[in-house]
Amino acid sequence: MARGKKIYEGKAKTLYEGPEPGTLIQYFKDDATAFNAVKKDVIDGKGVLNNLLSEYFMVGLTSIGVPTHFLKRLNMREQLVRSCEIIPLEIIVRNVAAGSMSTRLGIEEGTQLPRPIIEYCLKDDKLGDPLVSEEHIAAFGWASQQDMDDILSLALRVNDFLAGVMYGVGIKLVDFKIEIGRVYDGDFQRLIIADEISPDSCRLWDIETGQKLDKDVFRRDLGSLTDAYTEVAKRLGVMPKNQHPVTKPTLIN
Ligand code: C5P
Repeated sequence: MARGKKIYEGKAKTLYEGPEPGTLIQYFKDDATAFNAVKKDVIDGKGVLNNLLSEYFMVGLTSIGVPTHFLKRLNMREQLVRSCEIIPLEIIVRNVAAGSMSTRLGIEEGTQLPRPIIEYCLKDDKLGDPLVSEEHIAAFGWASQQDMDDILSLALRVNDFLAGVMYGVGIKLVDFKIEIGRVYDGDFQRLIIADEISPDSCRLWDIETGQKLDKDVFRRDLGSLTDAYTEVAKRLGVMPKNQHPVTKPTLIN
């Protein structure tokens, strides 16, 4: 499928105009960044794995009635998505204390939380995506009260779905981040899950061993990121066992 002009290049993905109005092509790069791009690398095959895994989660969400931007996967690195107006918030859902919440509140990593905790960060790389309160969101008009009610309900449904799917393959869903977009159907507007859901945006720990199977492997230099993501993909049946993601074309004469 022919790509149109480049619309936006982010740290891990590039968006191009899609073939029809209201569509975009989302290209998954191999670039890995952490700590607001202070740490950078190129990890062969990461884009392929995230494309396949994000497809898997988005299709699953659609099948239980949670609307997403995903339309179809085009190839190993690209998917066709519905274009939407991204709400400028990162929505984080936590089941277990880890990462920035552990650091900020001094709660030991791995502590089970009494209930899922939702946090909102302003999507602004220059400011380092700061944590914001619902008061800030309302006062500065980043989302309406109706949006916030819908965001909360969507975030909790995604959490229940992802936690259940991961539990089924022996993985604990510690936390994750989603982005939400607005689409218009005539005069009617609704919110859909956008961006990606992948081990780049989730914390995933093996239930038995506690092994990290997410981007913390890269952030904390814990080994091969491709091996960790491949393990998640294999357990979910997203790629056949013993097969590594295709990274470069093989020339056959
Ligand atoms: O760093 P922190 O603990 O706040 O991250 C919480 C969750 O949100 C983690 O799963 C992390 O991968 C994800 N996240 C993300 N993109 C960001 C910030 C956090 O995907 N910009």
